[in-house]
Amino acid sequence: MGRRKVMVIGLDCAEPSLAFDKYAGVMPNLRRLMKKGCWGLLRSTIPPITVPAWTTMVSGADPGELGIYGFRDRTGYGSYELDFATARTVRVPRLWDVLGDAGLRSTVLFVPQTYPPPAELRGSMVTCFLTPGADSDYARPVELKQTLESSFGPYIVDVPDFRTDDKPRLLESIYAMSRQHFAMARFLLDKDDWDFFMMVEMGCDRFHHGFWRHIAADHPRHVPGNRFADAGREYYAYLDRELGTLAEFADADTTVLVVSDPGARTMKGGICLNEWLLRHGYLALEELPDRPTPLHRLKIDWSRTKAWGEGGYYGRVFLNVRGREPQGIIPPEQLDTECEALKAMLEAIPDEHGRPIGTVAHRPRDLYPVARGTPPDLIVLFGNLDWRSIGSVGTGAIHAVGNDTGPDDANHSWDGILVASGAQVSAIGRIDGAEVRDIARTVLGLFELAPPETMGGTGILSGVRRVREQGA
Ligand SMILES: [Zn+2]
Repeated sequence: MGRRKVMVIGLDCAEPSLAFDKYAGVMPNLRRLMKKGCWGLLRSTIPPITVPAWTTMVSGADPGELGIYGFRDRTGYGSYELDFATARTVRVPRLWDVLGDAGLRSTVLFVPQTYPPPAELRGSMVTCFLTPGADSDYARPVELKQTLESSFGPYIVDVPDFRTDDKPRLLESIYAMSRQHFAMARFLLDKDDWDFFMMVEMGCDRFHHGFWRHIAADHPRHVPGNRFADAGREYYAYLDRELGTLAEFADADTTVLVVSDPGARTMKGGICLNEWLLRHGYLALEELPDRPTPLHRLKIDWSRTKAWGEGGYYGRVFLNVRGREPQGIIPPEQLDTECEALKAMLEAIPDEHGRPIGTVAHRPRDLYPVARGTPPDLIVLFGNLDWRSIGSVGTGAIHAVGNDTGPDDANHSWDGILVASGAQVSAIGRIDGAEVRDIARTVLGLFELAPPETMGGTGILSGVRRVREQGA
C-alpha cells in the first residue's frame, strides 16, 4: 500500500431521500462510490444545524463539549447578548490540528467555523461561508488568496441574500458559488501535497432553503409543474458531476468520504416563540410593537421577564434567573420547577387547528455529558423540526406561515448522507447507526492515529472492517 490519503467531500444539507432515492438516477458518480464501499444515513447533532454540526464532525466533540449551540451563542450569563460562533469559539482540536501534529498535510476548504484562519497550518485553508467578505484574510498560506483570486476572481463566500423571492437570480448565484468552489477544490487537489483533503459546499443548503417548495410535493405551497420543479434534479446532477471530477484525484490508496449535515425537510410553518412567551406572561416589553419586530430591537422589561427566546431552525429559551442573569427574577431554587413547567407548556403548543405537533423541548443536561459555555435552558424542536422558531414579536399570531427573516421553505432534518469508498473500505453496502461525531475518529482511524481526549464517537470503518472479517 502506498501513501494513505483521505478525501472528505461535504455537501451541507444534502438530503438522503433525494441523493439515495429520488435523484439517484442522475447521480452515477455517487452510486459508483456507494457500490464500491459502504453508505447510509449520517445522524446529525442536537441541534441539527450547520453550526455546530460540522465542528462536531471534524472534532468528535458534541455541542455541549464545544459549548456551541447555534450560529450565535450567549457571551456569558453576565449579559443578555449573543455573539456569532467563529473559529475562535472552537476550543478543541480539529482533524487538521491532530493530523498536523502527526506531520500530515491538510487542504481544508470552506469548512464551517474556520474563520478566522489559524496563524499557522500544515497545509492550506480557505475559510467558510461565515467569512466576512472577499476582502477578508481568508486563506492560508496568506499568499494563496492572491493565487486563487487571480484564477477564480473574488472569493464567493456565500450566496448573497438567499432568502429572496427573486428565484432566477438566486439559482444563478448558487451555481456561480458552487462552480467557483469546486474549481478551487480541483486546483488545490492538483497543486497541494495533501494527505487529508476536506471541502464543504453550502450551495445545497441554500438551494433547499430557496427552492424546497418548488421541488417537494409535500410542501403546503407546492405547485405541481412549476418552473423550478426540475431544478432539484438538475442541481443534484450538477453536484454529482463535480463529485466525479474530484474523485478523479483519489488514487488507489485514497479513501473518499461523501458526507452531508444535516438533511432537509418541508417547513410546515413557524411558531412565534417570543410572541407566545409574551402572551403567557413569561416575557414583558416596555412597549408592544405594531408590526413583526426582532426582539433585540425592542426594550425588554427584565424586572417582569421570566424567559425569552431565540428564533431559528429550532427554538432556544433562556430563563432570567436571579444571581445568574444581570436582572434575573426567578429564584435560583425555582429554576428546575420553572424549566419543567415551561417545557411541558411548549411541548403542548398545537398547530393552528389545535392538533398536536409533537414538539420536544430538551434540557441540555439531558443531552450532553457536559454543557459548556452558556447553554440555553431549553432546546425546543417544534414539531420535531417540521416547524421553525420565529423570534419576532408583534406577529399578531402564534403560528406563522412563512419565516420572519425572509422566504425560506425548508427546515433541517435529522439525517444527512454518508458514503465511504476506497482501498480501506470493504464493499459492504448499507450501514446503519453512523453519526456525525463518528467522522473525526473514522478519519484518524484511516491514518492509524490515536484520537485526542476530546474526540468522542466511534470509528465507523474499523467497525465495518471488523464485522466483515468476523463474517468472512
Ligand atoms: Zn440550512
